[in-house]
This record gives sequence, structure tokens and C-alpha cells, in this order.
Amino acid sequence: MTRIERIEIFVTELPVRLKRTFSSGSYDTGAPDQLLGKPVLVKIHAGGVTGVAQIRAISPGHFVADTVHSMVAAIRDIYGPLLIGRRLADFEAHDALLTSRLAGNPAARAVLDIALHDALGKALGVPVHDLLGGRSNDTIPLEWSVSLYEDPQGMVDDALRATQEYGMKVICLKAAGNGGWRQDVRNFETVRKAVGPDVMIGVDPNTGWTVSDSILALHAMRDLDVGYCEQPVERRNLRGMAQIRAQAAGVPLMVDEALFTVQDAAQIIEAGAADVFCIKLYKVGGLLAARRMAALGQASDIGINSGGLAVASGLEAAAAAHFCASIPAGRTFGAAEFVFGAGVLGDDPLIADGNFVIKDGAVTVPTGPGLGMTLDEAALEQMTLGHCVVT
Ligand SMILES: [Mg+2]
Repeated sequence: MTRIERIEIFVTELPVRLKRTFSSGSYDTGAPDQLLGKPVLVKIHAGGVTGVAQIRAISPGHFVADTVHSMVAAIRDIYGPLLIGRRLADFEAHDALLTSRLAGNPAARAVLDIALHDALGKALGVPVHDLLGGRSNDTIPLEWSVSLYEDPQGMVDDALRATQEYGMKVICLKAAGNGGWRQDVRNFETVRKAVGPDVMIGVDPNTGWTVSDSILALHAMRDLDVGYCEQPVERRNLRGMAQIRAQAAGVPLMVDEALFTVQDAAQIIEAGAADVFCIKLYKVGGLLAARRMAALGQASDIGINSGGLAVASGLEAAAAAHFCASIPAGRTFGAAEFVFGAGVLGDDPLIADGNFVIKDGAVTVPTGPGLGMTLDEAALEQMTLGHCVVT
């Protein structure tokens, strides 16, 4: 079996700057040339194949602890040297080894895990989803996460862009802004009127509501057809989540900030705190961890939602698409969030071939070897802000 020979780490420029607002912070990919907020791309060289993956640490301004600098340092100093010389396909053993030396760092773990899957897929001539149990779905429906705006019309404009321009059937409204939960209810009502009854609309306060806010808000929105409520309260408050769930009149409750590890998943199930897991590859540490959580979800009748915006990254979007393709349609919930890596912000200049095209609110899962995306080496050279090699 092929062995891992060399790992290259790149920090790359983004073609656009994205700023979005939610209750507990903001996404900002940062000014041009500023490293903080930019994605990390790795190449793993093994026996004549090169696995490639890209993940953007969403800090600063968000709950996940990784930054671009912590990702680079973890891979360059600890994870990379541990992986050199090991068999490419030993995903479980790699995971155990990395956990024993520098636990956590899910974004750094994720970019390595996805690049290893890409490399093995290329070595075997199969798409990544064939390494995850095969393809249950050819097309992946997408969801648009609608940012908070001072003027609710901004939310309506975003929502209509998603539904009318791209044909999306699922949107999610950020909530818990300055106006309190009552303003969130008014925002929801305004958007519901604009998009009509056939669009699933979720609400995501990003931990900004209290237990009583959540119960009052869901009660007030009872006639507005709330598709789901995502992580209303503080991430460790599983008891509160269970209380809300008991009084949600059937509105599915989704965990996001509460779910980083497979142990978190087990505790959430034990507490009866959720109907849906929001699985983001950068948050959970990659495809191997995502599959473990999906299995736990299956055992407890918990739906699987694929999160993560994949800002301007075809590679990050592709990894999520392969994960989604591997989950039987009946076990998925809502739609996948990687829309900002699927062409909404323009084509990803790093992808020479294989950029996504959104049609009727969905994309087709790539079927070429590995992630099914061809890296544009000239564009990578142009867009590289930093580079180092582990041998
Ligand atoms: Mg969320």
C-alpha cells in the first residue's frame, strides 16, 4: 500500500471578501493579503498521487477555536510529521494517533482527512463517496443561510435570491439579533409571506435565545410553519435543549454548536436534546468523524444535516457533497449549506475543471476520482499567501 511521502500546506487568497452577521458574531474572510480568515489548502503526496483539500477556519468571530495560524502550526509541527511514512488508507489508525498527540483542532484534522480521502480515491480510481459506502444520492439539494440585517428587507432580498434565482427549497434565517425574539418572529413572518408556503424555512439563533425565548418564539410562530430550529441556546445546555424540544410542538430541533465530537453526539442522544445533527466537516474533523456521527444518528432516528458555507471553495464544497451523497435520502434533513462554494460567489479560480452548477436548488455530486475536482496549479501559485512543506 502506498505510503504518505510529503505534505504541502498553502494559505490561499480568496477571490472575494465575504461578511455576514449572526447573533454571536460574524463571518469575515478579511482584507486581501491578510492571513486571518483565509483558507488552508493541503496537498498530500503518496506513491505518485496527490490528494488535495481545502478548509477555511471560520474564526475569528465564531465558536470554532481553530484559526488559519493554528491549523498551519498543528499540521506543520505535529500532525504532518506523524503522518509521513504511514499507509495512506489507514484512516482509523491515523485518527487514533493524531488524537493521542494533539486532541481537538478539528479544522486541521478535517483538511488532512479529506486530502487523504482524495488521495486514496485517486489511487484507486474511485470517487470519495465510494470510500464512504457508495452513492445514495446523485443530486444534493442546497440550503441558503440568510444573514441578519438591520432592515428585514435585506433578509427578504437574500431569501428571494435563493428561491427565485437558484430555485432553493430550503432557507434558514439567522435570529437573535438586537430586536430580541419578537423581532425574529416578525422577520420570519415577513420572509414567509415573501417566499410563500412551499419553502422550508428554518431559524438559527446561534445560541442567542434563552430557553423561555425559544419556547415563546416557537409558540408565536406556530402558524408560520417553522421547518426547524437550530441551536437556540448555549452549546452545553443540553437539558435546556430537551426542555425546548418537549414544548416545540413537533418543530425539529437541530444541534450545531453543541456537536463537535462523537462523544458530544452520544451525550446529545442521551439527553434527548435533538432531532437533527448539523455536521460540518471543519467542526467535526473530517469525513471519518462525520460518518461516525451519522451512524450514531441512524441508531437513534436523528436526521443528518450537512452544514458549512464552503466560502468560495469548490474543494470544501465537494467534500461536503461526497458526504451528503453517501447518506440515504431518507436519513438526511433539510438541505446542505455549501452553497457559497457552489458558484453563488462566482467560480472558484483554484478549480480548473469540475466547478459546481446549481440547478433547481441542487448540485450533482462529482463522480471523477477522489473529490472529482482538478486543481489549477497556475492559479494556486498566483493565489498563495504562504507555503510550507512537511517531509
Ligand atoms: Mg448553525
